[in-house]
Amino acid sequence: MVVYCLLSEVVAVVLTLRPFPVAVDRRTVLILAVLLVLGVVQSETGRRVERIRRRVSGTPHINMTSVWTFAGVLLLPPLLLAVLVGGLYAHLAVRSWYRLQRVPVSRTVSNAAIILLSCYAAQAVLRVSGAEDVRSAFSRGWAGTFAIAAAGATFFVVNALLVLPARREVGRTPEALFGTWSDNGLEVATLCLGALNAVALAVLPGLVVLVLPPLLLLHRTVLVRQLEVAAHRDEKTGLYNTSGWHALAERTLAAATRQHSTFGLLMLDLDHFKQVNDTYGHLAGDAVLRAVAEAIISAVRGRGDAVGRFGGEEFVVLLPGIAHPDIGAVAERIRRAVAALKVPVGQLSITGLSTSIGMAVYPGAGTSLQRLLDAADTALYHAKATGRNKVVHVADLV
Ligand code: GH3
Ligand code: MG
Ligand code: MG
Repeated sequence: MVVYCLLSEVVAVVLTLRPFPVAVDRRTVLILAVLLVLGVVQSETGRRVERIRRRVSGTPHINMTSVWTFAGVLLLPPLLLAVLVGGLYAHLAVRSWYRLQRVPVSRTVSNAAIILLSCYAAQAVLRVSGAEDVRSAFSRGWAGTFAIAAAGATFFVVNALLVLPARREVGRTPEALFGTWSDNGLEVATLCLGALNAVALAVLPGLVVLVLPPLLLLHRTVLVRQLEVAAHRDEKTGLYNTSGWHALAERTLAAATRQHSTFGLLMLDLDHFKQVNDTYGHLAGDAVLRAVAEAIISAVRGRGDAVGRFGGEEFVVLLPGIAHPDIGAVAERIRRAVAALKVPVGQLSITGLSTSIGMAVYPGAGTSLQRLLDAADTALYHAKATGRNKVVHVADLV
């Protein structure tokens, strides 16, 4: 990763310093200044939204600077483009990233280098398509239009690919790799605004401020979507919360009813958890809850499996397509994973945890979600009453 980042930085510097046919005149410098100022204004006005977005979003973060950088692609020579990207990223790093997330300087530099490389790739495509900048595209009619569209698409794709090797953790799902639909929609929308921005700057520069209101609104729209997702999450553990899990379980139930298939429910309650709190304190208890959440997640990796926290130290697991006896194996895997946990708390490490698990399978144990939950709860109660640290299937009770 370090080698990759250094390499991309070196390539970005080399490409910045290469000779370029477009001369730097006063007008271009003025455009650079306008883009820089607007970029700073936008990021200052959007700071609150951005702060909430960063807090609620777990997926790769896409910022909105391409409104300005892509306009720069269409209007500025490489050297000034580098000043624009450098300026915007320096501002973001100082004002938002460092304070919010302690993003190290090296990270900001490599982010900026990757954006700059995406810019240069877009510029190269623009010139290959026969347009030097947005003004020369005007004189080419449809060919000019397509050249700008191709440059935008290049920026989008090259950026999505270049950031992959620079990431510390690379997920396996498309969403973990490339972000959600709404993240990508935001990136496309900002590129569109960037192109319109460049057109405005080339024709009637004053009109460029028109881009600010839609941009701020766009920012909020994305926030609303992320808040919707966050409303279904349990903050402490990142698992589904009660309402999120219920919504998913209802969908699974409907699908199982339609397809005459089956699904299982596990209900878990940690054993003697109050003692953990009493002995080590509430914060240590929270650390245990997070560790248990992770242990459950890694023990159930099937498609559509959903783990939720029903408040306190009670967890639920939805297992689509599973039946007896496989469900017992999953529950047993979870029980063992919890029993094997070592949760570091300061100098100590908490061990000897255990959990009791109740199981119920649709449709045998019930045909409504409430019935199934009641059944799993009954089994859980039985597990508690008969010694804890065990798995009980409701069908085995008489
Ligand atoms: P049992 O084996 O019978 O389940 O014993 P238990 O001690 O786990 O009993 P119970 O389930 O009734 O206790 C739950 C405890 O969980 C009580 C409360 O102090 C603790 N708790 C609930 N929510 C949280 C939380 O968010 N964080 C922490 N640290 N503790 C919590
Ligand atoms: Mg409990
Ligand atoms: Mg308990």
